[in-house]
Amino acid sequence: MPHKLPDESHLVVDVTRLDREGETLEGVTGEIVALDERFVKSVGGVEYSLFAQALGSELLVRGRVSQRFELVCSRCNEVFEHEAVIPDFTTSVEIDENTQFADLTDEVRESIILTLPAYPVCREGCKGLCARCGKNLNEGPCGCAEESGDSRWGALDALNLK
Ligand SMILES: [Zn+2]
Ligand SMILES: [Zn+2]
Repeated sequence: MPHKLPDESHLVVDVTRLDREGETLEGVTGEIVALDERFVKSVGGVEYSLFAQALGSELLVRGRVSQRFELVCSRCNEVFEHEAVIPDFTTSVEIDENTQFADLTDEVRESIILTLPAYPVCREGCKGLCARCGKNLNEGPCGCAEESGDSRWGALDALNLK
């Protein structure tokens, strides 16, 4: 029977109760990633489906972890939902006969954060904001586009040509 993790604020494997043949641990943790910043917020806890097996002095863990986020698009500033998924999370923890719990919280948190894009984009081909009037160009063209060429760049080009 799968056992409950001792504390939902950590992703912990209870080594003493682990099946000798290995065991699948599944569920959702508490909010262990807990990012709440201007451009990135985690939503809920980490979903995990991990197979854990103690082999000699090592606890081997592999499986899938995922975490939902709200990110701000680096082009158009809109908030969008993003699910960070690690389909093949793998780790090993040294254990001995005195080990009761193996805490995977920090490693899972860091692995998930590392998957976050440095420049999140809400969709492929996001058109971003007009540099002149600030309109979200995903919602349609603004009047600025009708003026052929951008006079600022035109002036710069003229300087470079001298
Ligand atoms: Zn966007
Ligand atoms: Zn514009």
